[in-house]
Amino acid sequence: MRGGVGPRVLLRRLREVMAEPVTPQERLDRIVVLIAANMVAEVCSVYVLRADSMLELYATEGLKREAVHQTTMRSDEGLVGLIARDARPLSLSDAQAHPAFAYRPETGEEIYASFLGVPILRAGDTLGVLVVQNRASRSYSEEEVEALETAAMVMAEMLAAGDLETLAKPGTGGIALRRYLALSGRAINDGIGLGHVVLHEPRVVVTNIVADDVEAEARRLDLAIETMRASIDDLIDQGTVSHAGEHRDVLETFRMFAYDRGWLKRLREAVMSGLTAEAAVERVQSDTRAKLLRQTDPYLRERLHDLDDLASRLLHQLTGSAFTLHASELPENAILVARTMGPAALLEYQRSKLRGLVLEEGGATSHVAVVARALGIPCVGEVESITSLVQPGDAIIIDGNAGEVHIRPGADLQASFGERARIRAGRQEQYRRDKHLPALTKDGVKIDLLMNAGLLVDMPGLHDVNAAGIGLFRTEILFMVAPTLPRASTQEGLYRSILSVAGSRPVTFRTLDIGGDKVLPYFRTLDEENPALGWRAIRIGLDRPALLRTQLRALIAAAADRDLRIMLPMIATPAEFDAARALLDRERLRARKLGQAQPKTIKLGTMLEVPSLLFDLDALLTRVDFISIGSNDLMQFLFAVDRDNARVSTRYDDLSPSLLRALRFVAAKSAKARVPVTLCGEMGGKPLSAMALIALGLRSLSMSAGRVGPVKAMIRALDVSKVKPIVDAALDGDVTADALKEQLIDFAEANGIVL
Ligand code: PEP
Ligand code: MG
Repeated sequence: MRGGVGPRVLLRRLREVMAEPVTPQERLDRIVVLIAANMVAEVCSVYVLRADSMLELYATEGLKREAVHQTTMRSDEGLVGLIARDARPLSLSDAQAHPAFAYRPETGEEIYASFLGVPILRAGDTLGVLVVQNRASRSYSEEEVEALETAAMVMAEMLAAGDLETLAKPGTGGIALRRYLALSGRAINDGIGLGHVVLHEPRVVVTNIVADDVEAEARRLDLAIETMRASIDDLIDQGTVSHAGEHRDVLETFRMFAYDRGWLKRLREAVMSGLTAEAAVERVQSDTRAKLLRQTDPYLRERLHDLDDLASRLLHQLTGSAFTLHASELPENAILVARTMGPAALLEYQRSKLRGLVLEEGGATSHVAVVARALGIPCVGEVESITSLVQPGDAIIIDGNAGEVHIRPGADLQASFGERARIRAGRQEQYRRDKHLPALTKDGVKIDLLMNAGLLVDMPGLHDVNAAGIGLFRTEILFMVAPTLPRASTQEGLYRSILSVAGSRPVTFRTLDIGGDKVLPYFRTLDEENPALGWRAIRIGLDRPALLRTQLRALIAAAADRDLRIMLPMIATPAEFDAARALLDRERLRARKLGQAQPKTIKLGTMLEVPSLLFDLDALLTRVDFISIGSNDLMQFLFAVDRDNARVSTRYDDLSPSLLRALRFVAAKSAKARVPVTLCGEMGGKPLSAMALIALGLRSLSMSAGRVGPVKAMIRALDVSKVKPIVDAALDGDVTADALKEQLIDFAEANGIVL
């Protein structure tokens, strides 16, 4: 490096300054002098990003001293703003010729031609900008850029440690690190949670930055890389999934990166510049995160995420800290924040302490989302960069209804959300008190309110809300959280436990509804263009009868001496139902031949979620013991709208006349054929839609536990004889979903029905 003393010496000197007993401003002043001397630059300045998005000059060597704490610029202004925004170094031999150059007369910088600035990054978050300038026009070498980046790393630690907070001017919100942030994502499970951030994969905080012995650090790094590679190889060889439900593909990518030369070279270079092994990894990881924030290509983002994960593993390896938080270490009022998480991992946390879950990835149908809903945890997904924007222990509010997250909220916001949470809790308390009241309308119509479940942990909800039974048990969720395909004996045990918790209340088990978005990590399926229309549910069951038969066998055995109800997903033709019935008959025969105890009765029904069945109802109704309308999928196929695609999934309403007419038709046909019919999609759990369904003639609804109370309250205030004519007249005429909605809301208001 041109005349400088090299990064190692710089780092050592910086460490000495950090240890001196001086004020934060004096320390900063000495640091800029040191860097300027080391870089043989006439100017070295530090700009800090404030919570109000302004960059403020905090210290300088070379520019006019009066400008310190006076010169500010917007974070999108000037060369410094450009570096802050792009989180990328900028090196110019003629700074004033750059279009973004913004002249600040009070600094006296017009005499300096060349400019080198680097972002001050911490875990991908930009905290400020570090700049050196020279009078002569010159270009800075790669080593010089790296030396300045290393110095910026030390600066980042200083900022993060809060040393400089005392220098912040009142009213500016302080350094950006601790500012309030509102982020939005996708609403996955409703509810409001107030608490403190717990990172699912705690970040290692590297405090030991400067190496005492560079060679020893290089050896530590090599050893950690070796160990990490070996552990990934082991995971792949075992062929099982690890803690977070990682798939083999992910691990294979990890392995590829663990041998990536470019990445390893950058790590080694960082160590050779005088950083400790862990600081070197963090430095490279910071670069990766900064790139990640800029990258819009989903494939490249995924790869950068992989690199980021790998760096985290390495950091944990080097510091000997656990990669995932031990579930028992959870504090009270925890809001778990994770990039992504396997469903089994969530189950390991103590539910009573969890107030919410925020995911960087993970749409509404990701497995962990399914589990979060089952556990009733407020959850927001697809919150970009959240894991790098929060610190463990930060105050946080999650609004699962709006899909919003508030980080480090002010007192006002905390109070207003606290109030909303209390009102909600009050309502829940009322539902609990009313749980023994019958689900009977004012004019005496009895409605069966059943509950949807998918895990053993859901089951106590049945008694908590006093539902009449389990109208839909999604068995695939049991499979999704299992590390390997559960054998018949394991399945039998699970089903028996579920029946035992249900006691005398009926349970309707749906056979495996996998495929589409529900992927089992250990069950390989082909990539399909249109998975929702592809090889899924009963189609897999009939094509791979061993899988379905094993499940039927386990169900028959588990329900010995009880009533057994089985339901088939995604049936599209009566012939498919017949084929599945034949498999069931074979299993019953087998059990009888083996002399096993039999269920007292077996009822076999079908989900109605494929529209073709609407036009095959006569044939279907002669075959089935019951029908359950899967309105989530029925709507998806009726309107040709992907239920997981946020762009289109809210385009059609539960109250769309075409859907309601179809449902009215099914209710009438089933009643005539005396075949019981239930609806178990999401709309059954919304009081307004449920009111319309009752008007259409449906008398049985199955919903998640949390919805039973509100729907029952609506039912107890409802007069069916009054609402039916309104809905019938609307559907017989020319009505829109919006108009019908308005009519029903008016009706509810006029009749004192709380929706
Ligand atoms: C449905 O499709 O409405 C349904 C209840 O099944 P799932 O949501 O599990 O697809
Ligand atoms: Mg479905």
